[in-house]
Amino acid sequence: MANRIITYQQMCDREGTSLQRGMNFRLGRTHSVILMSIRDNAPYPDRYEGSAIVYQGHDAPRSKKVPHPETVDQPEKTRSGTLTENGKFGAAAREFKLGNRPPEPVRVYQKLRKGLWSYNGLFNLVDAWREKRGRRLIVKFKLVATENRATEEKSESRVIPARVKATVWKRDKGRCVICGKTEDLHFDHVIPFSKGGSSTRAANMQLLCARHNLKKSARIE
Ligand SMILES: [Zn+2]
Repeated sequence: MANRIITYQQMCDREGTSLQRGMNFRLGRTHSVILMSIRDNAPYPDRYEGSAIVYQGHDAPRSKKVPHPETVDQPEKTRSGTLTENGKFGAAAREFKLGNRPPEPVRVYQKLRKGLWSYNGLFNLVDAWREKRGRRLIVKFKLVATENRATEEKSESRVIPARVKATVWKRDKGRCVICGKTEDLHFDHVIPFSKGGSSTRAANMQLLCARHNLKKSARIE
């Protein structure tokens, strides 16, 4: 799963719902979901720090009372006093830091281009804080890659950083490097991870279609 490039619909099918927003606290019974983008035109400046992600909270929805959400504090509560997604993720991070609960597990998906996504793996939400940005306060979250090897996450420990995926996607122009196909693509390790190949260097990653990906792994076995 971690190396596959999937459509928006495949991502929604996996999560069992239509994903409409970037932050989804406790979407599943066992986990939350966040969507990130590190493309140049991304709405929020999410970034990787080693294997950790620093994720920016979201602005208030645009409305008559808030015509310019990007100029006001990122809210943790709605007008009626319920928690926003910023507030729910923030509360979970604070409770974790106090030792009152385990970290919230978060599945992270990365946008490659409109309609195409890649699963970046399961992360733990470990911190939340507010930052002054110009005249307003924004919310930041820190997520660290889990070493959780239980059940379905077993094959997903070889996290390819988002910036590497973005670089490889751009360099290979969204096509299989062998046949040029643009569907069912995978991020492939040129030198396999099991043989010591790096996941963190774009030079060791390439795009392959499902057929060529399978052909290659058969040859290596
Ligand atoms: Zn191919």
